[in-house]
Amino acid sequence: MLIDGKCHCGNISFSLSWEPDPTHIPARACACSFCKKHGGVWTSNPRGSLRILVRDPLLISKYAFGTKNASFQVCAHCGIVPVVTGLIDGKLYAVVNVNSFEGVDPSLIRRESANFDKEDEEARLARWKRN
Ligand SMILES: [Zn+2]
Repeated sequence: MLIDGKCHCGNISFSLSWEPDPTHIPARACACSFCKKHGGVWTSNPRGSLRILVRDPLLISKYAFGTKNASFQVCAHCGIVPVVTGLIDGKLYAVVNVNSFEGVDPSLIRRESANFDKEDEEARLARWKRN
């Protein structure tokens, strides 16, 4: 399955390949202080691959806080955050916001809340690599 998504104005778009076709897409409503304010609900697939297309790179605001491992790719034009990226050991990982999906059957998306506040940096990076 190819999952397409984009920010509201279309400056940032993505295509996530998900093989085999998912019976459901796990989605984590992150409880960090940034995601709470933004309503960020994230998914990723360890066997998938992600293609991100940016129309105007000048219209991306990269936001990081705390350990600064994660870079929130905020569209500076419409304010949506479709993708978060993180560089670990020279390899680029990412999660996508299920709220920015286009044309995906909503019944496929299984939302759950997640709180990683008590996770230390090492455990966080290990989880990112895994997922
Ligand atoms: Zn936008």
